[in-house]
Amino acid sequence: MTDALGVQLTWFGHACVELVTADGTTVLIDPWFGNPRSPRAADAVESCDVLLVTHGHGDHLGDAIELAQRLEPTWPAIHELTLWAGPQLGDGVQLIGMNKGGTVDAGGLRVSMVRAEHSAGGPVEGAGAVYLGEPVGFVVDLGGVRVYHAGDTDLFGDMALIGELHHPDIAFLPIGGHYTMGPRAAARAVQLLGASTVVPIHYGTFPALAGTPDELRTELLRLGLGAVRVLTPEPGETVSL
Ligand code: ZN
Repeated sequence: MTDALGVQLTWFGHACVELVTADGTTVLIDPWFGNPRSPRAADAVESCDVLLVTHGHGDHLGDAIELAQRLEPTWPAIHELTLWAGPQLGDGVQLIGMNKGGTVDAGGLRVSMVRAEHSAGGPVEGAGAVYLGEPVGFVVDLGGVRVYHAGDTDLFGDMALIGELHHPDIAFLPIGGHYTMGPRAAARAVQLLGASTVVPIHYGTFPALAGTPDELRTELLRLGLGAVRVLTPEPGETVSL
């Protein structure tokens, strides 16, 4: 990877990530701009060509419906999530129902849906949560750089297959613990994936999400992976690749 790629990535706190390609295609993943660390409000988001939501928990679904209604992106999502979202959206949104193992063209980008080890249920309505399909991760090929966003997940051995099949360069991995894997397991995930760069997410939002990037670095060193680049931008800070 060199600066010539022209890819920009911005973490907005929690699992909320924006990727912008060299030609200006904007990808938003798990767009919870209402999280306590986000410096950008959802109504200040001006561009979304591709929208991705890893699962139906409110801290990942976030502002997806409102953003999709306003900005009309292409939105590949697991089948059950599209059944729920579809009736709430206008014809301008290209909702693509898919499932784990699939790869689709979204806004000119190849988007692959992969496994996650977690649970999923949508916004609580009355007695309980609405089932919105299984949780997933995504690999997005931005043209010269492949980005894996794991969503919420524990470590699982098949991350080695994600590495083998999709060769992610950059991995956005949860490290907070409690609801996901923590730093020790995340370091092992980096090893299985073979990613050269990791961006820790899903930490620091609440006290329960206690894992830290420093702990991740320590665990990477323990595995002999000191050469892996750990990017820790501040929420809202853009990193250019
Ligand atoms: Zn979750």
